[in-house]
Amino acid sequence: MKNLTSIQPSKTQPARLAALKQSFHDWNQSPDVLAKMAKRLSTTLSLETQLGIIAEEIAQTIPFDALNYRHRIARQDFVFSTGMGGPHRCEYRLTLEGSYYGTLAFHRRQKFTDEELTGLEMMLSAAICPMRNACQYIAIEQAALTDALTGIGNKRALDEALLRASALADRHGAPWSLILCDLDHFKLINDNHGHVVGDHILSRTAEKLEQAIRNSDTVYRFGGEEFAVLLPHTSEQEAREVAERIRLAIESIRVDGGETPLTVTGSCGVATHLADEAPEQWLARADEALYRAKAQGRNCTRVFASIS
Ligand code: GH3
Ligand code: MG
Ligand code: MG
Repeated sequence: MKNLTSIQPSKTQPARLAALKQSFHDWNQSPDVLAKMAKRLSTTLSLETQLGIIAEEIAQTIPFDALNYRHRIARQDFVFSTGMGGPHRCEYRLTLEGSYYGTLAFHRRQKFTDEELTGLEMMLSAAICPMRNACQYIAIEQAALTDALTGIGNKRALDEALLRASALADRHGAPWSLILCDLDHFKLINDNHGHVVGDHILSRTAEKLEQAIRNSDTVYRFGGEEFAVLLPHTSEQEAREVAERIRLAIESIRVDGGETPLTVTGSCGVATHLADEAPEQWLARADEALYRAKAQGRNCTRVFASIS
């Protein structure tokens, strides 16, 4: 590595510094539309904020009535809209180096002129690099919250969701329930049939759980063969019913296991959030209910009943 103290000041340095100062001043004061937009976009990695900036900057040069953006990033739909549409529309599929970064559509009452379309394309060319960075940032954030084997949320995602759910339950008073589900004697499946079969059963279980719940419910894998389901607006009794549905769905899994198909069962513990309860206490109560389900024979559901 170069020793910084050994670099001698050269005679050209003051002149170069003055030029740098001037170019920084010019860059800051520049009326250049593209430079201004690119500069603003580079200040954020939030795709939503970037689209707001793009809408504002484009509208100053090329007026439009509505802008719609859609993209699917890491298995989730990202949608951004501003304004109300008109009958004329131009749509761009945003790509950079062969990768796709969403579709952006502009709507207007009057037709877009050729000159305006050229202007739009220039503005979008300047926006695509920052947008790619924002899309990749979402994907990385999503990957950090996703279980690689099953594609559902991981322990970190569950922790964050429990924190949000506890706050929402306290603020709005609506019931939130949590189901913990642990596969029974799973070690035996691994021991007898190998880890590849075990992994396959874990993936099938995640699929079954996702099919057994409503859109507003969310599933997590928070341990090896342990899953959690978070249910908003769901009472203790309703959560017990969902847990039973989940248990039966797991029981229905059939995996090729030689002469007879392999089956698996799961035990469920349910706890409904109590007022002012910390996420860890809520999780601990669901875990206690699960422990009882295991102790009382497995392949069953137990509820940590709230006193009411
Ligand atoms: P119990 O009914 O008491 O829950 O018994 P169990 O055998 O399911 O529980 P135990 O905690 O003894 O063993 C859990 C097993 O889950 C052991 C481990 O090999 C397996 N396991 C954990 N993570 C994975 C994984 O990612 N893939 C596979 N194939 N197996 C896993
Ligand atoms: Mg187990
Ligand atoms: Mg376990």
